[in-house]
Amino acid sequence: MPSTSRLIQPIGGTLVNLIVAEEAQPDLRARATYLPSLQLSERALYDLELMAIGGFSPLDRFMNRADYERVLAEMRLDGGQLFPILVMLLVERNADVRLDREVALRDARNELLGIMTVEEAYEWDCAETAQQVLGTRDVRHPLVAEMQRWGAVALSGRLQMLALPAHHDFSDLRLTPAETRARLGALGASRVVAFQTRNPLHRAHEELTKRAAAAIDGVLLLHPVVGMTKPGDVDYYTRVRAYKVLVDRYYERGHVLLALLPLAMRLAGPREAVWHALIRRNYGASHFIVGRDHASPGLDSAGKPFYGPYDAQELVARFQEELGIGMLPFGEMMYLPDEDRYEEVSRIPRMVRTASISGTQVREEFLNAGQKLPDWFTRPEVAQILMDSYPPRHRQGVCVWFTGLSGAGKSTTAETLTTLLLERGRQVTVLDGDVVRTHLSKGLGFSKEDRDTNIRRIGFVTAEIVRHGGVVVAAAVSPYRATRDEVRHMVGEDRFVEVFVDTPLDVCERRDSKGVYAKARRGEITGFTGIDDPYEAPENPEITLDTVVSTPEQNARRVLEHLERQGFVR
Ligand code: ADP
Ligand code: ADP
Repeated sequence: MPSTSRLIQPIGGTLVNLIVAEEAQPDLRARATYLPSLQLSERALYDLELMAIGGFSPLDRFMNRADYERVLAEMRLDGGQLFPILVMLLVERNADVRLDREVALRDARNELLGIMTVEEAYEWDCAETAQQVLGTRDVRHPLVAEMQRWGAVALSGRLQMLALPAHHDFSDLRLTPAETRARLGALGASRVVAFQTRNPLHRAHEELTKRAAAAIDGVLLLHPVVGMTKPGDVDYYTRVRAYKVLVDRYYERGHVLLALLPLAMRLAGPREAVWHALIRRNYGASHFIVGRDHASPGLDSAGKPFYGPYDAQELVARFQEELGIGMLPFGEMMYLPDEDRYEEVSRIPRMVRTASISGTQVREEFLNAGQKLPDWFTRPEVAQILMDSYPPRHRQGVCVWFTGLSGAGKSTTAETLTTLLLERGRQVTVLDGDVVRTHLSKGLGFSKEDRDTNIRRIGFVTAEIVRHGGVVVAAAVSPYRATRDEVRHMVGEDRFVEVFVDTPLDVCERRDSKGVYAKARRGEITGFTGIDDPYEAPENPEITLDTVVSTPEQNARRVLEHLERQGFVR
């Protein structure tokens, strides 16, 4: 045996490996062409991948009913092994599967991943599951919210894997449990402490991980999650670029291994911490760091934390023996400005000055403001990577959406606003309803359906432009409230400025610059907004403009001032 055998044994003694031997693959592939298919959700794909490579050992299939019940009640598989989190394959009641038959498992692009023999199908209880595993039914919990959309039936049965879900990024860092063990073995390590993270590493984390490795006189397995984390987290591409720089420049060579974990987190706090420890044991770690608020989903709808800050440490401690992987508990690391060093909160005397910066502050006071994070808080290379990915507000995208009756003054005001924005150095795309209908929406008419299609198209393009940091000025009647709200969600609540051009119908009709009202009154145009089709005024627009008392320029400046206050214009 190579030196890897000095590492701690995986759970159950061996690593699960569900990939079928190469010789058997052609036959299975041929068979799959005759089978019904299931297209797996993102979460199921990550679960399947980790199961296939042994990350969830001893689990070798999606859970059956007996597993499900025992995991809920006791955090154990039916066979008795500790396993605190559900791993289920969920389908709708009408799914094309039959008991004792095979089904092909496919990814989002319909690539074949494997074949499952459906040995069991059972219904599960959403509310009960949420309560037992997550300790809450509050839909503010991201997983509880997601669970509402899961299928009603869970499938279980033997898995034969032909391929793993494809990842083309950071291939050199995507190590299976066996590969991770081999690499750790090559470092000559018998003691390994794993660090789980879904956040950028700041100096507090660097300090904590170095202390942990020193405490066991072993090496660090830096094991960030690159599957699903909490919505709104820093994207993993940015994070991994930063981890790489840190490992290169700030950790001692040969004492750290960076590897990416394709885990779909549940944000289940204490139960998730036990799960994380168990997974890291499979990857060869002998120790696992559990800090404050491990795998925390944030605040519930009453504004209270879902779990106590040290609940996770308590639960891991309770199962310490059985887990067979040692926990290194840590409190919060605080910076001591007078001594220029970090210390754990429990070891800081009362009157000593401390400093820290919260995640919200990082985003709002530093990144959004274009301020570089201080060196005591983050290594300068990491600060730069974060700034590159999260530019300041005045370089982020935003949409100004003018809505109102035909002739209200949307286009005129939008045009003036556009020149003011260009003057201030922003790049602007104008999406004017009348103009869009000559290309992007050519051929669409004014039925409710066509108008919604028109607005959704404008919304789609807007969302893309905003995502890439551009300013969109859209001007369309957009008469229906629900459709406008849909666009608001597509673009993102905090980057959507709805401007209601509130010109009374009689004023629009008197202006009638396009002659359309006259036609509508004569009945030559039907279903005309304000005449014989409704205009649903916004209930809470960011801005309401009056075009009777104010000029287009005055109104455009009001919108500009709003954008300035929000930081979108310097
Ligand atoms: P919409 O795009 O809302 O259909 P337009 O901007 O094309 O409306 O037309 C509005 C008409 O009203 C233009 O002829 C414009 O010059 C005139 N108008 C008069 N006063 C104002 C004002 N205060 N704001 C905007 N437009 C005004
Ligand atoms: P929508 O938001 O309904 O797609 P647009 O801003 O794209 O509206 O286009 C509205 C313009 O089309 C109006 O300014 C008007 O000149 C013209 N128009 C033609 N038929 C109608 C109609 N039935 N209702 C409203 N506007 C119409």
